Amino acid sequence: MEIHRFNPPIRTLMGPGPSDVHPRILEALSRPTIGHLDPHFVALMEEVKTLLQYAFQTDNALTMPVSAPGSAGMETCFVNLVEPGDEVIVCQNGVFGGRMKENVERCGGIPVMVEDPWGRAVDPQKLEDALKANPDAGVVAFVHAETSTGAQSDVKTLVGLAHKHDCLTIVDAVTSLGGTPVKVDVWGVDAIYSGTQKCLSCVPGLSPVSFNERAQEKIRDRKTKVQSWFMDLNLVMGYWGSGATRSYHHTAPVNTLYGLHEALLMLKEEGLENAWNRHQRNHLALRAGLEHLGMELIVPEDERLPQLNAVSIPEGVDDARVRGRLLTEYNLEIGAGLGALAGKVWRIGLMGHASRAENILLCVGALGAVLSDMGISVNTGEALSGVQKALQG
Ligand SMILES: *Cc1c(COP(=O)(O)O)cnc(C)c1O
Repeated sequence: MEIHRFNPPIRTLMGPGPSDVHPRILEALSRPTIGHLDPHFVALMEEVKTLLQYAFQTDNALTMPVSAPGSAGMETCFVNLVEPGDEVIVCQNGVFGGRMKENVERCGGIPVMVEDPWGRAVDPQKLEDALKANPDAGVVAFVHAETSTGAQSDVKTLVGLAHKHDCLTIVDAVTSLGGTPVKVDVWGVDAIYSGTQKCLSCVPGLSPVSFNERAQEKIRDRKTKVQSWFMDLNLVMGYWGSGATRSYHHTAPVNTLYGLHEALLMLKEEGLENAWNRHQRNHLALRAGLEHLGMELIVPEDERLPQLNAVSIPEGVDDARVRGRLLTEYNLEIGAGLGALAGKVWRIGLMGHASRAENILLCVGALGAVLSDMGISVNTGEALSGVQKALQG
């Protein structure tokens, strides 16, 4: 077998992530690598922390990127905040809540599950009932933006309930950060994690996290050592903490952090609110196009995420074949359904740099063309003018 240089095709990424990476970020990644304790790099780290505080809308000093993907940010929250025997209420309305349960169990904690239908937001009433029925619970965990279904939950209300019952909160904001409002301080979130490859338009591989004072206190007061050496925040802070001696903990992914710095700078230049509005506007345009093609979003209107659109697959259509043709004929990636929704929905992302008018037109046009070619009666022209109208409206 002869092995050649790897030249990836140029795709448009409209799935559940990774999303399109902006050329400015790709350029930043290719800048010269310097030492991770170099004063220039330490200065960059400080800026990354400040920019992350802006993205999360927080003054939390403990705000930084974990050197690994979103799942590691999730794990960082759980291993630090859950000790053996702790009761943790986990609200599940999709795939990622299930992973939270796994995390609680692996920390030796006791998960108390609050289940909601896939495609719906977390029901605050069910959380309140669980809090009353489980007075010993100390932590509540849930997903803000369920990427597996396209549902958005009401963080402010859920955090308020948790605090009323003296629980800390762990919030998954992997898909929400940069795409839809995330207000850590106003909402009082105690611990939150995100990812770089969704609405931040950066490459995969980093997980921004933020912990408030209450969460840090809980970590300091632990009776047992955090079982993960790599994720023990007491140790990580020696490297990332303000005024820290920057002693060696692990080698930071230097170039990936150049990328994150550039991505966050771009978010700041655009302005958070403008970014949220852009995601919302483009969501409405995509929705108009899909509805003209005869497809329905599965999430009720007031619980929908603008950056992840789960749409039901038309009757009799071969899911994998359509996605395969979009990829090979149009260089367009959309996502398949996960878990209970496998084969039933497509997940169309409009995340970060991918949330652009031309992508919506490409997606609606290509879907229309492929469906029509497969014998489904659709009016692609009407769908495209529906998109145009919504974009102008
Ligand atoms: C993508 C995603 C994750 C996991 O992030 P990775 O970077 O793939 O590890 C966790 N939670 C949600 C809601 C996600 O969308």
